[in-house]
Amino acid sequence: MIESRLLEIPEMSAWLKENGACVSGRILLKDDAHLPIAGSVKARGGIHEVLKIAEQLAFKAKILHPTDKYDKIDSEEFRQFYSQYTIQAGSTGNLGLSIGIMGASLGFHVIVHMSREAKEWKKALLREKGVTVLEYDGDYSHAVAEGRASSAKDPHSFFIDDENSEDLFFGYATAGMRLKMQLYKAGVNVDSDHPLFVYLPCGVGGAPGGITYGLKQMFGDNVHCFFVEPVQHPCMLLGLSSGKYEEISVEDIGLGAPTVADGLAVGRPSALVSKMMRPLLSGCFTVKDEHLFIWMKVMYEKEHLFLEPPACAGFQGLTQIENPDSICRQYLENHHLTEKMQSATHIIWATGGGLIPSTEQTRLLTL
Ligand SMILES: *Cc1c(COP(=O)(O)O)cnc(C)c1O
Repeated sequence: MIESRLLEIPEMSAWLKENGACVSGRILLKDDAHLPIAGSVKARGGIHEVLKIAEQLAFKAKILHPTDKYDKIDSEEFRQFYSQYTIQAGSTGNLGLSIGIMGASLGFHVIVHMSREAKEWKKALLREKGVTVLEYDGDYSHAVAEGRASSAKDPHSFFIDDENSEDLFFGYATAGMRLKMQLYKAGVNVDSDHPLFVYLPCGVGGAPGGITYGLKQMFGDNVHCFFVEPVQHPCMLLGLSSGKYEEISVEDIGLGAPTVADGLAVGRPSALVSKMMRPLLSGCFTVKDEHLFIWMKVMYEKEHLFLEPPACAGFQGLTQIENPDSICRQYLENHHLTEKMQSATHIIWATGGGLIPSTEQTRLLTL
């Protein structure tokens, strides 16, 4: 079971309100930055897909049966077996960490194709675990394309495709059911008089898309999911609003400059996820790097929780949703929500930062 806490953030909420956020209702934070093993939301999708590959290989070789205790795969015998196989992925950093840490510990040979945004400490940590890290000067799509091509040449290699994988997607989607239980235990109602708003940082769309899909299965029209993207990389916003999905890139409209939000620096959305989001997603916000830094620092000071900059993107949605000058007003009116905002619940989905070494933490907090 890989799950994170649902937290109250009273000090941060007070600070946001003092600093101009007009938001009524209850504010909670979903701490996926501290998910076990990978320290980011990628633990949900990446580990699910690695385990599924491991399970299917073992079934096929008849060394594991559905009725067995699965802890037997954590053994030298199984590591020997998995060492015949390779798992590859393209990543801006965190997906590589998730797949690399999990894959290597089961005995797989793992190759991570890293885009130019990937942080040095993420590459170093993976190499320490025996993962092969290949670095490219290109962007995220380039790293994914390299990984896909390299994997296609090797019949014993599996490619975890962040742009198209259903297994990743469904790994993320389990969050919906789990959150429903957590809200129930916390005494939070979600129904037509008590709407739920969820703000999710978005890169290629797999993680926030899978979570949105899961939440929609649980709460239907009573949950309103919004993605947040860097102003220079609004790939989902562009793909959905133009109707061109993965066929348009942020470079096509003159954007794509570097951002501190490494995990969100993606030029085109997932083909699979962008099409699935069309009827489900309520909207997309964009956020500037300078705000990510401020929220990261205030979260650390006020709530003693360290999040990496992209993981703070959700706060953008929270600060805008009830802003009378924002287009959000129209959304609330159209959905007859204006009167219900006092009894709404807002969830900031914090997506990464749990594995950041303390020296890097200090560097980011003092920039
Ligand atoms: C990957 C990532 C996301 C977004 O996930 P996508 O599947 O790329 O949309 C958000 N936050 C962090 C910290 C991430 O690493």
